[in-house]
Amino acid sequence: MDKIFNRTENGTTTTISIREGLAELNHAMMGGRREVRSMSSGRTQHSIEYKDGRKVTLTLTDAPEPDTEPAEWATAHSGFTAHRFRDGRALCRKNIRPRSHSLIHGEYRTRSWVVNSTFTLCPRCGAL
Ligand SMILES: [Zn+2]
Repeated sequence: MDKIFNRTENGTTTTISIREGLAELNHAMMGGRREVRSMSSGRTQHSIEYKDGRKVTLTLTDAPEPDTEPAEWATAHSGFTAHRFRDGRALCRKNIRPRSHSLIHGEYRTRSWVVNSTFTLCPRCGAL
């Protein structure tokens, strides 16, 4: 499985690639050494305390599974309901077409994306 770093800076955690994490660690040890107050490294976790007060922890962790859901969801021209489309037509009603940007840019989304967005999942499409 792929690895990534969880990067926590003053309590806020984001995920970054191994490459980005190693770049920050290298910088802290080499070119940017003067900006670092203290640094410690374990097998899976590295901590850097910068002189400007930032505390950064990099923790090696498993990358999440890639999103393998089909991206078939988009909003229609009106409203905030996302429907599931196949061949440019909603599954719940054949006369519902996706928003034009979905057609032009292929911006269909996965169901999980819609659930986590401000759009409402069409209950009929969701049941299909
Ligand atoms: Zn629908």
